[in-house]
Amino acid sequence: MQLIKLLRTSAPFWEEIPIVKADLTKTILLTFDYEVFFNRPGTFERCILEPVDELIRLMEQHQMGATYFIDMLYYSRLLEQEETKLTALAMKRQLQRLVQAGHRIEPHLHPHWLDAEWEDGNWAFPHYKRYRLQSLSEDEILAILHEACRMLEEIAREVDPSYKVMAYRAGGWCIQPFDKLVKAFGASELLVDSSVAPGMRGDSEAHYFEFSHVKPVDYYRFECDPTLVSPQGSFVEIPISTYHRSAYNKLRNKVFNRFYRRRLRQFGDGRGIPLNTDFRKKWLATTEMVTLERMYPNKLMQIIKQSKQSVVNIISHPKGLSPISMECLLKLAESKHRCITIKKYYDEQIAGNKDQQAAQAYSISV
Ligand SMILES: [Zn+2]
Repeated sequence: MQLIKLLRTSAPFWEEIPIVKADLTKTILLTFDYEVFFNRPGTFERCILEPVDELIRLMEQHQMGATYFIDMLYYSRLLEQEETKLTALAMKRQLQRLVQAGHRIEPHLHPHWLDAEWEDGNWAFPHYKRYRLQSLSEDEILAILHEACRMLEEIAREVDPSYKVMAYRAGGWCIQPFDKLVKAFGASELLVDSSVAPGMRGDSEAHYFEFSHVKPVDYYRFECDPTLVSPQGSFVEIPISTYHRSAYNKLRNKVFNRFYRRRLRQFGDGRGIPLNTDFRKKWLATTEMVTLERMYPNKLMQIIKQSKQSVVNIISHPKGLSPISMECLLKLAESKHRCITIKKYYDEQIAGNKDQQAAQAYSISV
């Protein structure tokens, strides 16, 4: 009956969800993984340049800050041949516009770019054997991460001479095992990781992560394993926020998405690596990352309100955004939540607050 009622409605689907008046101001960390697709890559213009310019424009109007995790191996491959050098320059200029607008640019690594081939005006990926950073040696990881940070800082310092990168997000969330990365993190003076998504796990030929045992907290310190609290640890994990997505919500979206195809059509013109979507993922309740991609504005506000965290870390990809994602952003702008960068949140809440964190970490681990 409920389904029939919903089908009959002429109002937009998201208006059917009762508007949630958030009574609590939360900190929102808008994070974007700045990259093209990895099966059919699509164009830089459609996957990155245009959606990110639109984000800059909207966020400037509403004084919102965001953190962009930049696929730096893509950038270094663009610099290699004459044909793609102009794209590299356009990317560099946009990264500088982001810094000038007060956003953050931080490293994000997808090592399978090392095997990509430029053929007839397009990138081709012959295999994904090096999808995970852990497929490289410890020394290679150290060199690649260090170079990525150095290049990002060089770009940023042309417009902000004191710029220093401080956070990292692993490509495909493959941050485990961390043993091979710990030296590189220290050498690059990274302070924060934001790859862990509490309650989620992923496993395929290309990638692997296991976060099902992690509790959804605002942040915690860690040393050798970003999924385990270590009160005096050198690094801080700011987890990606997740939520419980019911089977009913999935069914409802499947029906209503058909009516809002245009608003849901992603800006990016490529295609991702096809992942096995099993019956459970498709039809049953699952834990999912909070994102602006294929998300309805009121649903997003409901998720934020119901989140146990006082800081909600929202992960999106410019390539996967659509007109409705921008409506989500405007909804956030109108709310009393505060959208700031990871660096600002770290400076305000985490830096120099170690004793309190130790107490907090204790309460998380017991
Ligand atoms: Zn990525």
